[in-house]
Amino acid sequence: MLPVDEKLKDFYQEIIRRNQGEPEFHQAVLEVLGSLGPVLAKHPELREHKVIERICEPERQVMFRVPWQDDKGTVWINRGFRVQFNSALGPYKGGLRFHSSVNLSVIKFLGFEQTFKNALTGMPIGGGKGGSDFDPKGHTDNEVMRFCQSFMTELYRHIGEYKDVPAGDIGVGAREIGFLFGQYKRITNRYESGVLTGKGLDWGGALVRKEATGYGLVFFMQEMLKARGQSFEGKTCVVSGSGNVSLYTIEKVQQLGGKVIACSDSGGYIYDENGIDLECVKQIKEVRRGRISEYSKSQPRCKYIAGGSIWDVPCDIALPCATQNELNGRDATSLVKNGCKFVAEGANMPTTPEGTKIFHDAGVAFGPGKAANAGGVATSALEMQQNASRDAWTFEYTEQRLADIMVGIHQRCYETAEEFGTPGNYVNGANISGFIKVARAMVALGLI
Ligand code: NDP
Repeated sequence: MLPVDEKLKDFYQEIIRRNQGEPEFHQAVLEVLGSLGPVLAKHPELREHKVIERICEPERQVMFRVPWQDDKGTVWINRGFRVQFNSALGPYKGGLRFHSSVNLSVIKFLGFEQTFKNALTGMPIGGGKGGSDFDPKGHTDNEVMRFCQSFMTELYRHIGEYKDVPAGDIGVGAREIGFLFGQYKRITNRYESGVLTGKGLDWGGALVRKEATGYGLVFFMQEMLKARGQSFEGKTCVVSGSGNVSLYTIEKVQQLGGKVIACSDSGGYIYDENGIDLECVKQIKEVRRGRISEYSKSQPRCKYIAGGSIWDVPCDIALPCATQNELNGRDATSLVKNGCKFVAEGANMPTTPEGTKIFHDAGVAFGPGKAANAGGVATSALEMQQNASRDAWTFEYTEQRLADIMVGIHQRCYETAEEFGTPGNYVNGANISGFIKVARAMVALGLI
């Protein structure tokens, strides 16, 4: 990231003033502004059209009450969000997050990032994000169903296959998407498959969607390695989290010859020097919805470290796949000191600005989330394509499409970074390439 251009400093202060108490949103905007100085020098007309100012203001923000009852009949009130950030390239597209940490700032940062990420995929999708401060963890299936039905009873009026197409994110997997889709269908009396992605395979879902973000991340990292004449073969990897993105990141790393020696959840991390037994982790996380600490019970050679930082484990490649700001300056210093040379973000904004700077200064190849984890949304767009044509593609064909898309994203970032004078800087490459695509469309569509 470059220091923010003089011409944008006042504007950034205005962002802080107009969006008070939203630190995650400020951080995401600052990260993009840090790359845009050279773009403005080359395209002064974008200043006249106030494209940056427009891009930083969501087109629409919806906040709503979600009342629901638990199994004992107790009434609970949560808050629902949908931020429709930018539809210059297509219908709003982005996941729903159900987690206690969700607030407007978190949803706005995610929606802002999503706009550029979706542009980078080259597919016709705008950017949006939503969710709730409800956390499905610890609730029964019936409670989760009642919550999802109440959530959709408000959300349905704001979404549609040509309007806004939500998907999963933290806390929202196939179970939640099923309950949400069922309620949408019931309220609207329409079997509108294209309104949500991440659906089950029996009712409009697509092969590879579940694996897509993790696999896509690894395909992106494979290109980063190739650009430096290397491969996954024999490299040790640390993958944080043990949710959807992490599990399929681990799977693809293993298929490509890498060794994943640690993964985590919010309670702590496991370290297995012989390599993580993925089937065991899947049993715990996907089947039993359990805790990662249970792994060490069936794998005695493994160490479970409660709390602590997973980034203290020495590795060649680090793949943060849990949540925002999970890898800070101290963690980055520890990774660099222990010889880590490659980092790519499966989660959204998992590295703090200080962490990113440390990686760049140390010459670590660093792939930002908006490029490296774009395989999920890209495969969602492939799901929409299959829904629209009433078709279902094979696993092999869809995986190849995903791999091609990730190679394309890597190439776009790599070449753009070079063109704008910062070779090897994927942060600038991703920000500039995504920004220019959205900006051009916004100018072409007039002042809307
Ligand atoms: P899941 O809910 O499936 O998994 C999240 C994982 O991260 C869990 O292991 C969770 O542990 C862990 N985690 C959450 N919060 C923390 C925390 N504060 N500290 C440590 N660990 C934590 O979510 P996903 O895998 O879908 O999403 C992970 C990240 O990837 C998010 O940033 C998301 O926005 C991003 N992403 C997801 C995409 C997708 O297709 N799903 C697409 C692109 C990006 P625990 O169970 O203990 O909470």
